[in-house]
Amino acid sequence: MTDGMKVRFAEFHKGREFVPGDGDTGADIVLIGEAPGKKEIAEGRPFVGKAGKNLDEFLSAVGIERNRVYITNAVKFRPVKVSLKGTVSNRTPSRDEIFAERDLLMDEVREIGPSFVVTLGNTPLRSWLGDMRACIGDMHGRPYDTYGGMILFPLYHPASIIYNRALKDTYKEDLRVLAGLIKDARR
Ligand code: URA
Repeated sequence: MTDGMKVRFAEFHKGREFVPGDGDTGADIVLIGEAPGKKEIAEGRPFVGKAGKNLDEFLSAVGIERNRVYITNAVKFRPVKVSLKGTVSNRTPSRDEIFAERDLLMDEVREIGPSFVVTLGNTPLRSWLGDMRACIGDMHGRPYDTYGGMILFPLYHPASIIYNRALKDTYKEDLRVLAGLIKDARR
């Protein structure tokens, strides 16, 4: 994320901890996750926890280097819920939280100007399309022409593979399709 965008995000979050986007600001691929978790907040970088490990593994399996992509989140703070026992855990961002950050996210991605925007799971897909009815189960694994010629390629969230092993093959196949498109575009 450029310094100008960092300032805008800091102003938006008004002292609340947030995790800026990270990676190659000249990348032709931008990955958008949902929101940072505890580890990401602690380290100040997206996808450094368990889901990040899965993401790295899958990216390298299809020959996409992490240092050649830019990674950010639809929501930059950590949305949490607190149980009656006081346990704090992650929760899915609400519609209002997603839409409140949407313009900033679009500007952040536009500044990079990638050929491919890869959304990970429902939240960034809905944010990118501005449509809460969009559904990853219906849209994953195929390219869509979107704003400014940026190709949207929806993938499942890497954490969903941790909880649903049956999705792993689908996820790998989707990544293979994406890797093919990227290879053709880079030719
Ligand atoms: N999951 C996300 O969607 N984003 C992160 O940064 C980490 C985990």
